Amino acid sequence: MRELEVKGLLEKAEVEAVLVTDPYNMRYLSGFSGGEGALLLTDRKKVLITDSRYTEAAGRETDFLVLEESRSNPRGKLLAQLAEEYRVSRMGFEDASVTYQEYEKLRKTLPEQELIPLGGLLDSLRAVKTEEELKLIRRAESIGDLAFAKILEVLKPGISELEVAAELEYQMKRAGAEGLSFDTIVASGLHSSMPHAVPTEKKLEPGDFVTMDFGCRYQGYCSDMTRTVVIGKASQEQKKIYQTVLEAQRLALDQLSAGKTGRQVDAVARGHIAEAGYGKYFGHGLGHSLGLFIHEEPRLSPGDDTLLLPGMVETVEPGIYVPGFGGVRIEDLALVKEGGCENYTGSPKELIEL
Ligand code: ZN
Ligand code: ZN
Repeated sequence: MRELEVKGLLEKAEVEAVLVTDPYNMRYLSGFSGGEGALLLTDRKKVLITDSRYTEAAGRETDFLVLEESRSNPRGKLLAQLAEEYRVSRMGFEDASVTYQEYEKLRKTLPEQELIPLGGLLDSLRAVKTEEELKLIRRAESIGDLAFAKILEVLKPGISELEVAAELEYQMKRAGAEGLSFDTIVASGLHSSMPHAVPTEKKLEPGDFVTMDFGCRYQGYCSDMTRTVVIGKASQEQKKIYQTVLEAQRLALDQLSAGKTGRQVDAVARGHIAEAGYGKYFGHGLGHSLGLFIHEEPRLSPGDDTLLLPGMVETVEPGIYVPGFGGVRIEDLALVKEGGCENYTGSPKELIEL
């Protein structure tokens, strides 16, 4: 169980209690994996409110006091009782994930309390990973590597994007994944110019780029990687695009280290792609962090000036997407360290022609 600095958190937010409803923050702070319910953190007690589907598991997973909500004992009533018992006058809540409807309900439930929006305060606690979290992320990423090695034996003309996606997902689950970290992307031929294409019944054909972006969850933690291969022989233009993306990725990985900002690392890859003449074909950010959720802060992007710290993880995933021609993305996941980074992705990156 994670040591939780509740007192520091309450002081920082200037509140007597924090209400946590985002499932990932609930899991991070309490260990509860059910996702349905709410946490109330006060300096006297840490309380988890959930319903009868989860109370047994919650009792095993957390050291929080578990209260059961039901139709006759709704969450609002429990919260009002707790707020009174712990003399809460200011309660922090997660404005980024609470809907307007939920907010209105909370407002009615707690008429005496001031509700304080926490912004990204709780999310920011998750940015630097613990050794235990890094172990799980690294394991999840290595499951992706295993699936990629297997898929190379399967890729050939005539099989569909959906079959490729199904095979990747099957291999990850066989290797211990409990689920996917996001919907698998398999984009071949002209589809590959769409960065987040959805796999279809289109069959792989000679000359196709095939971009596969996939990840799994291992004990709650996500992996994420992308590889692009060519079915048959690559053309000169395909080789040029592929090499440009690969060089951009390697240059960015060389720059990724503690003390840099996401903007600086992004600029290295973006500059290289622009120099090669493909600047307008790289629209998305260079990378993102991940953890319990697939897209976490900070980002490697032109808009992120967060200073990178040791223990953060970042994907590095430049791409070039030419409509009517095709596209390439190469994505690794790396741990930020002092003076450099450690790449968690082991799969080969030189152009593979199958
Ligand atoms: Zn990805
Ligand atoms: Zn990614």
